[in-house]
Amino acid sequence: MRDTELLAEALDLLEREFSGLPRYAPEVPGESRMASVLAEAAHRMGDNFPYFHPLYAGQMLKPPHPVARAAYAMAMWLNPNNHALDGGRASSRMEWEAVREIAAMFGWSEFIGHLTGGGTLANLEALWVAGQMMPGKKIVASEQAHYTHERITAVLRLPFASIACDENGRMDLTHLEAALKSGEVGTVVATLGTTGAGAVDPLPAILDLRKKYRFRLHVDAAYGGYFRLASNLDGDAARAFERISEADSIVIDPHKHGLQPYGCGCVLFRDPAMGRWYKHDSPCTYFTSQELHIHGGAQQSGGSCAVGSFAAELFAEGSLHLGEISLECSRAGASAVALWTTQRLLPLVRGGEFARGLERCREAALQFRSMIAAEDSFVPGPAPDLDIVVWAVRAATPAESSRRAQEVFDRAAKHDLHLALAQMPPRIFREAGWTSEHQPSAVTCLRSVLMKPEHLAWVDEIGRRLRNAL
Ligand SMILES: *Cc1c(COP(=O)(O)O)cnc(C)c1O
Repeated sequence: MRDTELLAEALDLLEREFSGLPRYAPEVPGESRMASVLAEAAHRMGDNFPYFHPLYAGQMLKPPHPVARAAYAMAMWLNPNNHALDGGRASSRMEWEAVREIAAMFGWSEFIGHLTGGGTLANLEALWVAGQMMPGKKIVASEQAHYTHERITAVLRLPFASIACDENGRMDLTHLEAALKSGEVGTVVATLGTTGAGAVDPLPAILDLRKKYRFRLHVDAAYGGYFRLASNLDGDAARAFERISEADSIVIDPHKHGLQPYGCGCVLFRDPAMGRWYKHDSPCTYFTSQELHIHGGAQQSGGSCAVGSFAAELFAEGSLHLGEISLECSRAGASAVALWTTQRLLPLVRGGEFARGLERCREAALQFRSMIAAEDSFVPGPAPDLDIVVWAVRAATPAESSRRAQEVFDRAAKHDLHLALAQMPPRIFREAGWTSEHQPSAVTCLRSVLMKPEHLAWVDEIGRRLRNAL
């Protein structure tokens, strides 16, 4: 069945749910010109890279699953708002159920969490809570962590420091321990799947350090989180994902590897009492959980913990307004409906169809990396921890290599092969033979995010076109 037929059928069923209401004719301003402006919009959309095609092997862009697209569009006909149960009763409960399944994937049954507009908002919430728990203390993340951590901490007015990475692009433990020794660090952000090279920070060793130095641990798994389900990771990465449940908070982006349309991030806190930091009094919403406010009001002095656990109880039974544990107000309920439907079709279990899709992406990256390593003109980056491959063009200096990477990138695009460029520390290209005297802080290299399972069948063709672009 085509996507559009699936959607039409779902919309018929939705309409029937409300068939008891008297008929009315909706007013549609500009109705007669809709087809022509839509045609114009479709034409404008042609000025995009073909993200859906396997020859698009550039940035982190993955087509949503057809069922997610259909569920999103169907829900959008009602346009629920998951800020409050009044605006999205069914979709809020679906959000709670879907988020519970994500938490269960990480080994958490008691927790608090919700969907967000994306990973940046989700990380902002996690670091905001971290700042409340560890006031005035530094937040540290690896130099390969997402650039928004530094910006978020600036917005939150929390001190931030960057920790150098090792030759594999993972957080360097010696540098981390040196920072911890200063006694100024309150929170460590471990990235499980960096955006640049997909590197997985050494979580087990970071957890060992937590025994010695007290700090909060936030795991940014916006990109890599779902790889917890993959069975073909190498030892270090697999061990990191095994220990993810020991984090204090986790961020994952269903709109990256979770087959969702944009506008779907997720933040989770291991301790449900973290809900207390969100307590607020919205002037016009929350008619159905007045209990929370009465309870909160009665506990003015030092009662925030009680409010936290009361919120947690309401959360656990799915009767809390999500806006009461979220920094955002209005949020698309359709995102939750799409996620719920997708997880219904493809449950988040090891060995399942969804997990196999991730394993195929990783296999594609391994094959592609071997192909690069066998090519004299290229210098492979570190062995991929997930499904992202970075490689440099062989040249005498990083500057020359950077220039040639840009040329390969441009020529490949002319052969319909869309790659990405990335700025990486030259030390991750060990085999380049660059001496430390001509090492700038970054080299421009080529990067492919092989996040479509179809990439596996296209590795040879991608390699052919890449060689033609040399
Ligand atoms: C993509 C990404 C983010 C930012 O998430 P958005 O959904 O783009 O806002 C943060 N951290 C990591 C590791 C990411 O890959």
